[in-house]
Amino acid sequence: MRDRNGELDVALHAVRAASRVCRAVQQRMVRPETLQKRDKSPVTVADFASQAIVCASLEAALPGDPVVGEESAKALRESAQAALSAAVVERVREELARDVDESTVLTWIDRGNAEARGPRYWTLDPIDGTKGFLRGEQFAVALALIEDGEVVLGVLGCPSLPEGTGVGALFAALRGEAATVRPLWDENAAPRPITVGRIERASEARFCESVESEHSDQSGSARVAELLGIRREPYRIDSQCKYAAVARDDASIYLRLPTRADYREKIWDHAAGKLIVEAAGGRVSDVDGRPLDFTHGRTLDLNRGVVATAGGIHDEVLRAVRRAREESAAHPESAAR
Ligand code: AMP
Ligand code: MG
Repeated sequence: MRDRNGELDVALHAVRAASRVCRAVQQRMVRPETLQKRDKSPVTVADFASQAIVCASLEAALPGDPVVGEESAKALRESAQAALSAAVVERVREELARDVDESTVLTWIDRGNAEARGPRYWTLDPIDGTKGFLRGEQFAVALALIEDGEVVLGVLGCPSLPEGTGVGALFAALRGEAATVRPLWDENAAPRPITVGRIERASEARFCESVESEHSDQSGSARVAELLGIRREPYRIDSQCKYAAVARDDASIYLRLPTRADYREKIWDHAAGKLIVEAAGGRVSDVDGRPLDFTHGRTLDLNRGVVATAGGIHDEVLRAVRRAREESAAHPESAAR
């Protein structure tokens, strides 16, 4: 028998530490002009440092476990990236409060390059919602454990999301158990169980979607909302904070409608969030109603888009999504993009 609670503690600790690193970089490096200058260095530094911290934690506690992370240290090893690499090492040292050399940090980052196959592996998005991070808005550190193609553990660190009287929320779920949230920065804070909202009719729902129109078809979702009789404005928020929003009843629907036929969703963008919504009593599928299928490597090859809901309204939402997609396929010129 695996010690699931022990594994969860390891994941919570790792995500909290990585979230702290990301918050420090966001506060110190992201300036109002960062976006205009198209300067991606803050997100690059935080991305690599976050992956290093999570991989180091997993290596120490669960040395045999593969990690499928979004980043690879290959780019950092190139000499032109020396300054960036030094900044990453500095952030990791600061978080660990001890001296570590560059090669150790790069090795940790590369531990996250495992292949997404086999009976058991972790998947990590060291910063999900990089655009939100650069805007000084929402982002998440997302870590999940996949066994035999099923997500069995998921943790989401959301450094800028309010929780209780403060800012920073840490969501967690084990398969078959209740989802929880706790304040992100307080190691001693007790988790509180969360559940999706009780909602009978989709017309009463608030739906959330990406801020970025390239990541989700916003005109399509506006049509879905119209078909469902939803009058409330969409709640636009970056990253897997959308799954968290549905899980704790800030919203009842998360729509991620494909913008391109050839895009394949990445496992680290969905694994943790999907489990947290399901553990909170909600439902998650792709836009065609298929379960998200984590048995095809790094991408959700057999799925298109995502629909997550508070549960009871799921089929009603899927019908509206299907109708909106049929309309836009029949009249592509009228679907404003
Ligand atoms: P969000 O914060 O929900 O807008 O999603 C951020 C994630 O969108 C990133 O982690 C990317 O992996 C992913 N992404 C990038 N391009 C696309 C696309 N064309 N469609 C859907 N997701 C995308
Ligand atoms: Mg991501």
